[in-house]
Amino acid sequence: MPGVNIKRILVEEDARPYGLTQRILNRLPNVPVEPVSRQGPVESLRHLVAGKETLYLSSHRGNLLKPCPGTKEYICCGYQILNLAANCPLDCSYCILQFYFLNQPYLRIFANLEDRLGHFLNVIDNESGQIFRIGTGEFTDSLALDHITHWSDLLLPQFSRRKNAVLELKTKTTQINRLLASRYRDRIIVSWSLNSSQVSAREEREAATIKKRVEAAKRCQAEGFTLGFHFDPLVHHPDWRDGYVKTIELLDKYIDPRGIIWISMGSLRFMPGLKPIIRKRHPKSTILNGEFIVGLDGKVRYFKAIRTDLYYFMREQLEKWYPDLGLYLCMESDEVWQTSMGWTPETSAGLCHYLDRRVLKFFG
Ligand code: SF4
Repeated sequence: MPGVNIKRILVEEDARPYGLTQRILNRLPNVPVEPVSRQGPVESLRHLVAGKETLYLSSHRGNLLKPCPGTKEYICCGYQILNLAANCPLDCSYCILQFYFLNQPYLRIFANLEDRLGHFLNVIDNESGQIFRIGTGEFTDSLALDHITHWSDLLLPQFSRRKNAVLELKTKTTQINRLLASRYRDRIIVSWSLNSSQVSAREEREAATIKKRVEAAKRCQAEGFTLGFHFDPLVHHPDWRDGYVKTIELLDKYIDPRGIIWISMGSLRFMPGLKPIIRKRHPKSTILNGEFIVGLDGKVRYFKAIRTDLYYFMREQLEKWYPDLGLYLCMESDEVWQTSMGWTPETSAGLCHYLDRRVLKFFG
């Protein structure tokens, strides 16, 4: 698969005893393995590329399940993150992980996942009145390493049988073989991040083309999976209307919109510290061209008028395709919601309620 080329495996001593470590080593018999003690920070930036060729098996010490770090200044969706790994074999110019894991550039896999799984499943079971919308694609791509880790074998049976949770696997790859081989479908959402083909080709190094992503989504839909899509980050680039319409036309060609639980939209935003990293690591990127402000959460984002324009146009086009797609905005203000979407959930609790209703509609 493009994007995954493991040349070295580092195994932290704490991670040695876990079954997942052994299984991963067995699946990569020709890759050199080095034992390491717990890693300190690695000298930064130039290691980022080599880091994507190095698997680092470690044990996770904190909480595996965490709320998505939204901010009180914007309306957030109340998503929960299941932390399987830190870092991603793909290499998008705008990826915030370059900044977060600047000093820890390796593909870090948490080998004690099975060991800790019971704990977070208990958290879910003890809150039977709450719906947990859980994703694994916040600090890595959910499926890019699935052929090595077999995470889906482990997670699908657990989530499929829980009545107050759904698991969303977000990807930019076509790595769906293990999903298709599994017999679990209920309460599993397979999602693709989408963009215009121009943005994807220039800014999403190692990711599958947009056409290939949509074709993979079609296969998953044909095999009984519920789908999600994320137009995030929307990028204000030359001919953006035309570029995004072409992606929506692809969706129309391949996907039955009745099987889509939600489509989110978020415009390009990033911590100011990411800017020099993009300039240095992605000299051909044009992602930083645009008119930006620093938002209430300290992130750089487009001027409000540009964001509204992007969302309004996308909403119009998507609703023309099918009027009930569970559209929502990621981290936007009440005012931007109202202007671009024609309604607002008003608060984060309101948005949670809206998305929980989508879950009930699809899975009961
Ligand atoms: S797919 Fe997501 S996590 Fe991976 S490099 Fe791109 S933005 Fe980062």
